[in-house]
Amino acid sequence: MPKKSSKQGATESARFEGRARLLAWYRRERRDLPWRRTSDPYAIWISEAMLQQTRVEAVIGYWQRFLARFPDVRALAQAPEQDVLAAWSGLGYYRRARALRAAAQALVERHDGEFPRDAELVRELPGIGPYTAGAVLSIAFDLPEPLVDGNVARVFARWFAHEADAVATQKWAWERARELVPTGAGAGEWNQALMELGATVCTPQRPRCESCPVASSCAALARGVVARIPRPKVRPEPVDVELVAWVVERRGSILMEERPADGRMAGLWQVPTVQVSPARPELFPSRLALEIEPGPELGVERHAITRHRIRMVLRRGEVGRASLPERLRWIPRDEVTALPLTGMARKALAQAFGIGKRPSGG
Ligand code: SF4
Repeated sequence: MPKKSSKQGATESARFEGRARLLAWYRRERRDLPWRRTSDPYAIWISEAMLQQTRVEAVIGYWQRFLARFPDVRALAQAPEQDVLAAWSGLGYYRRARALRAAAQALVERHDGEFPRDAELVRELPGIGPYTAGAVLSIAFDLPEPLVDGNVARVFARWFAHEADAVATQKWAWERARELVPTGAGAGEWNQALMELGATVCTPQRPRCESCPVASSCAALARGVVARIPRPKVRPEPVDVELVAWVVERRGSILMEERPADGRMAGLWQVPTVQVSPARPELFPSRLALEIEPGPELGVERHAITRHRIRMVLRRGEVGRASLPERLRWIPRDEVTALPLTGMARKALAQAFGIGKRPSGG
């Protein structure tokens, strides 16, 4: 093995100190989040799945409601899919909610409803990748499993001044995570300290290096390259989408549409909605196979999903007594929020009827 130079030795000892400082900082400064007060792997798993969707502040309420409704693996495994989607409604990326339920069913079938303490077995569960497996096993059981999310990749890349594109950085960050995760006790705390540093101090824009516990060993800070790491992503061109959402009421019920069983937001509910475009400017919802008499415009809502910038015009409409086509149903007004709704549907219902809305999502 090549001998280390005195400069390398000094750098490593500074990093070693940085690790100790990072852990001391985490014990002192960490945010008091409800999933940090439990070692229940199920509760931690659900929090991790939700935290991949939205901000911590928004997750708290969702997590508490979800656990109240599905308190353990068996309850989630037995729940109807529509109930799980309804509890997830507003978080977006509904495939993840379906995968949670499928993984709960697999846990019941293969592991008697318990999380196995084995990373390979956990990664074989539907929808659970290396990050989630690492998070659940290290945080709930303190097993020496590494993890890398966007925060951890950024912290490592700056701490070690690794300048590369996002894909190469992820791969490299996993190698660092495997090297650095404590092999005895403390993996859960170490992983959480890295994520916390990335979420609160070493943030994507304007990191607070002056308050950073690893500043004295941070290579990017020493070399003045913090702003260059990570490399900015090349964003795809936004796509403008224009929708007309029909607000149709009859005797205390609202006309609702279930989205098809495949494609985006499959199986979720919305007010009947059609896309219009310069090439297809008709207001009339031929896609819905239903005659709707157009009424006045009620307002405009905006929404963003991935690169789609959506402008949704809400328009009141009337329908005759004809029977409804498949996927359209009259839903009593006070039962609408029990449906798994799209984020746009919640905006439309809030604007048209004052029915409460939750934080945005798909
Ligand atoms: S010193 Fe700054 S760039 Fe380096 S890890 Fe800390 S916050 Fe990030």
